[in-house]
Amino acid sequence: MDSLRFFAGDAERKTFYNSLRDGLMLLDKDHRIIFANISATHMLGVREKVITNKHFEDVVNLQLGGKSVHTEDSPITRAKLKMSPYSSESELGLHYTMARNDRSILPVNLTVIPSTLETDINFIVIFHDSAADTKIDQAKSEFIALVSHQLRTPINIISWYVEKLLNKKHGELNKSQRKYLEEVSNGNKRIVNLVQAIVNVSRTDLTRLKHKHEQVNLSQLLRKAYKDLEPTAGLKNITFELSTPTQDVILADSDTELLDSAIKNIILNALRYTLGDGSVNISLKRADESNKVQNSDKSGFIVEVKDNGIGIPDEEKQKVFQKLYRASNVKSLDVTGVGLGLYIAQNFIEQVGGSIWFTSDLRAGSTFYIFIPES
Ligand code: ADP
Repeated sequence: MDSLRFFAGDAERKTFYNSLRDGLMLLDKDHRIIFANISATHMLGVREKVITNKHFEDVVNLQLGGKSVHTEDSPITRAKLKMSPYSSESELGLHYTMARNDRSILPVNLTVIPSTLETDINFIVIFHDSAADTKIDQAKSEFIALVSHQLRTPINIISWYVEKLLNKKHGELNKSQRKYLEEVSNGNKRIVNLVQAIVNVSRTDLTRLKHKHEQVNLSQLLRKAYKDLEPTAGLKNITFELSTPTQDVILADSDTELLDSAIKNIILNALRYTLGDGSVNISLKRADESNKVQNSDKSGFIVEVKDNGIGIPDEEKQKVFQKLYRASNVKSLDVTGVGLGLYIAQNFIEQVGGSIWFTSDLRAGSTFYIFIPES
């Protein structure tokens, strides 16, 4: 069958398919191309007439890591096996490319929908040009980095002059003047934190998947983090403890900076959301059956950060890893947080192949678990 017959009496649908930015192909049960929209033909660098009725595998030269994809690994086979839509985007680290007619290479995300609605169509294949996404993401990150950088100077000027006035260097302030200036100072501190967090996020997005692959002494890293944060715990009179195995834990292929930043974020949160005289305990253990590892197929270690602080309300638990989310019970307690620490920590830990999760009881405390693979 060709597209003329297929769309007979239904020109609108063809126009609609042709108006899509993503490439789209309709295949029959033998993977023969019945229709390819204009975007698909542009992506392949061919005319529709040339590919109609040909087998998908003969027309679309898909590659993974520079090697042609075998039929058994093709997205169509994956969708067939699943008997449900398959999207390569949902598989981390699976980056298909497609060789175009002029031999140039195009990175693509593919979605294959096994179709039962149409009698002659068995698969709908959608091609999404992922190079465009990467470019947009990069442009966004660069823009954010630039804006945050430009914001730093005026913010510093405000801090500088507010501090001067508050330090009474230029005369006494009355009660209301002091109060208002303190509000300005607090607000400005929040902007400083927000800008710093935004810079961190844009940096995270820019360096995504580019971790250093180095050997890391996790025990040493934890001891250093503990020492750095001891004064913060001391200020709130929080009992602060660290326990690590007697023998140092060495990770073969990880990233000191990413781990350090993520772990410190989690510990800082525990200290921040635990009231004075509470306790925060950090421990490092080998991951095993007893400590609920989510990545059960990998061997590794778990850093556990346990506090007896304010906890997280049940109905907000799944939101706390989202960008800029802060639970309702912390907003009045701590005005300096911006809701990006967990987002960044999760992103960093995932970059080194690990995961973060937590358990929490409102007003009783939270335990954050950081799973870090051994290699
Ligand atoms: P921030 O701490 O800057 O608000 P995070 O992204 O680090 O942002 O955390 C998001 C939210 O998760 C916090 O605002 C808080 O509501 C909650 N949260 C994180 N860690 C804890 C903890 N140890 N105890 C209670 N709530 C926490």
